[in-house]
Amino acid sequence: MAPIISIADLSKVYASGLVALRDVNLEIARGEIFALLGPNGAGKSTLINIVCGIVTPSAGTVRADGHDILSDYRGARRAIGLVPQELTTDAFESVWNTVSFTRGLFGLRKDPAHIERVLRDLSLWEKRDSRIMTLSGGMKRRVLIAKALSHEPRILFLDEPTAGVDVELRQDMWRLVRQLRDRGVTVILTTHYIEEAEEMADRIGVIRRGEIILVEEKAELMRKLGRKQLTLQLQSPLGEIPPALDGHGLELASDGRELVYTYDTKGERTGITGLLTALSSAGIRFSDLRTSQSSLEDIFVGLVRERA
Ligand code: ADP
Ligand code: MG
Repeated sequence: MAPIISIADLSKVYASGLVALRDVNLEIARGEIFALLGPNGAGKSTLINIVCGIVTPSAGTVRADGHDILSDYRGARRAIGLVPQELTTDAFESVWNTVSFTRGLFGLRKDPAHIERVLRDLSLWEKRDSRIMTLSGGMKRRVLIAKALSHEPRILFLDEPTAGVDVELRQDMWRLVRQLRDRGVTVILTTHYIEEAEEMADRIGVIRRGEIILVEEKAELMRKLGRKQLTLQLQSPLGEIPPALDGHGLELASDGRELVYTYDTKGERTGITGLLTALSSAGIRFSDLRTSQSSLEDIFVGLVRERA
């Protein structure tokens, strides 16, 4: 199926000269939950804001639900709901009015039943007549989500949806995101929490310094992340792996001078004890050993460091 969002060769250089995005290529499939994961300043908001028509790209093309975001801005924008990172709301309006008004901005007919459903889903129904200025921060954020959903978008962007929100709202938000996905809405969220990407997403893209450095199915990513390698330097080289060591998934490296064992750090057991026993009974001696993480793990450790 054609992707619902296609981003090709997208770059952004701000007026200050800062390169916020560099040659980004990314496709989002219809109906998926995609998490864009990266440290602060990586370019997540810039990317989202370009797709939503708030920031102009320096180069490249973006299509949303078949509409070019520049030549067919209105078509693209109508398909998209955006919950921005910063809280911005019209303080004096009531919840009901502000959400209904937003729907009107997209040129859609009034639909009180839809607005009611959105407000109920977000536990805002009781507050429908309250002025926004009287609401708590968490409630204001719910209003932003309701506004983003007022015109029944096919694509919903959530920019750092859970940064600084309470546990209850975070769980409501996750539930809502899954409900939306079940109704066929594509959800793209940004986060700098690995755990959040892991909890929510079907697919994860990692962005660092304006570049998408990897895009992977969540399950696959998590599987790779848990892997570590143990490399044994042998006292005497081996021509092949002795049959007695079959079943350990070993590989020979460095012309038979090293044995490499890959194991899952998240599994119940690493299998290292069994391996060492088997090596010893096979009479294979080693002079040194080292462990290394997958390059993915390095990426993630790096991300966590940058975040700090
Ligand atoms: P993220 O959302 O991942 O934290 P941003 O997209 O907000 O990252 O920012 C990416 C980079 O672009 C940062 O270095 C930020 O300081 C810079 N930046 C963001 N907005 C502007 C702007 N309006 N003018 C100049 N630089 C900006
Ligand atoms: Mg941001």
